[in-house]
Amino acid sequence: MPLTGIEIFKLLPKTNCKECGDPTCLAFAMKLAAGKAELTLCPYVSDEVKARLSEAAAPPIRVVTIGVGDRALKIGGETVMFRHEKRFENPPGFAILVSDTMDEAEVDGRLQRFKQLEYERVGLTLRPELVAVKSESGDASKFAALVSRVQQNSDGGIILMSDSPDVLAAGLKACADRKPLIYAATEDNLGPVADLAKEHSCPVAAKASGLEELSQLTAKLTEAGVNDIVLDSGSRSVRQAFDDQVIIRSSALAKKFRPLGFPTIVFPCEMTDDPMKEAVIASMFVAKYGGVIVLSDFQGHSLFPLLVERLNIYTDPQRPLATTEGIYEIGSPDESSPVLVTSNFSLTYFIVSGEIENSKVPSYLLVKDTEGLSVMTAWAAGKFVADAIAPFVKKCGIGDKVKHHKLVIPGYAAAESGGLEEELSGWEILVGPREGSHIPAYLKRWKP
Ligand code: SF4
Repeated sequence: MPLTGIEIFKLLPKTNCKECGDPTCLAFAMKLAAGKAELTLCPYVSDEVKARLSEAAAPPIRVVTIGVGDRALKIGGETVMFRHEKRFENPPGFAILVSDTMDEAEVDGRLQRFKQLEYERVGLTLRPELVAVKSESGDASKFAALVSRVQQNSDGGIILMSDSPDVLAAGLKACADRKPLIYAATEDNLGPVADLAKEHSCPVAAKASGLEELSQLTAKLTEAGVNDIVLDSGSRSVRQAFDDQVIIRSSALAKKFRPLGFPTIVFPCEMTDDPMKEAVIASMFVAKYGGVIVLSDFQGHSLFPLLVERLNIYTDPQRPLATTEGIYEIGSPDESSPVLVTSNFSLTYFIVSGEIENSKVPSYLLVKDTEGLSVMTAWAAGKFVADAIAPFVKKCGIGDKVKHHKLVIPGYAAAESGGLEEELSGWEILVGPREGSHIPAYLKRWKP
């Protein structure tokens, strides 16, 4: 049984030294009990107390890793139901399905799409993570051959899908070093699949029909020494699968119900035959609360929105993405090139730099540190005003790079033009467009 906040408090040093970031040991104990803090934040607990608190201090939803190296996918570890309470921790992985009854061209096409569909956005690479390899033939050697093919042609994580321990063992023989997710342990094959998971130190999915059966199954797996578990409630109707996700998350967080304290796997690919509907269902599980989301295929027009949605949901709302302050050269500018200034909110930077690129007019873009705020918000907060922009322009060295000394400020900061002319003597301040999309037309009229 997890400990209460008061029980945990009794075991803490009670010095209220604040080093954990909380004002008192009691406040820290309450957070620990709620799964919203980690015991390692207090440097003064003894090893003996650490051992006693390990149960209470463990995240209510276990972190499970699928795969190895740079492409390893970490799921679980969530501590809240809603993103406004605290950020979500580990984004779900997207998996593409291949099966041993598909012809070679189909498998190759899917593996190619898995590799090729990746996108750059706000300085990050967005891509899917997993290939789910399914045995539909029941033939162990055919399955092993397909797993080898997947392993050779993709560097992503692998999910091995079969009910048969023999087929799973054949797949594991081909790719155990990639630490695949074994899918799935059921009531019927529990013992042999648990043995495979332990032998190869791989995570295992538990599949049952309904949450009660599922919690009994995970309890048995845990007893058998398997701790890295992913949950499949078995529901394949959208409504029931959605309900299951919510119940699993709330049981783990609110009730500290350990048998459901694991990340989940969901199968939009088995809920509809319509690819667009499948993408919509997948988008629901990105928000509520899929750990691995298995799709029948990847197409750019449906995968890209899912990747962007995932990025948005799993970005910390309290910490805007920010770009480093400095001078950014776009398209080999020279001493006659335009100089524009903007804020360091990443989305602003990528929109403005993208529009400058579109204009084909080589330019200098000055990015002022506004603590990740957009131009208007930073202006309203006093972080993108003449007193702040002028020292940055002087200090950054742009004056040595151009001979014209004209500075284009965003239209939304037009009110600062007078102040900047006073602060930046020798500079002419030009008010640029309000909208990024108007930048190309503006720059095409540029005269140094
Ligand atoms: Fe108490 Fe430890 Fe936090 Fe200090 S760091 S206030 S001793 S819980």
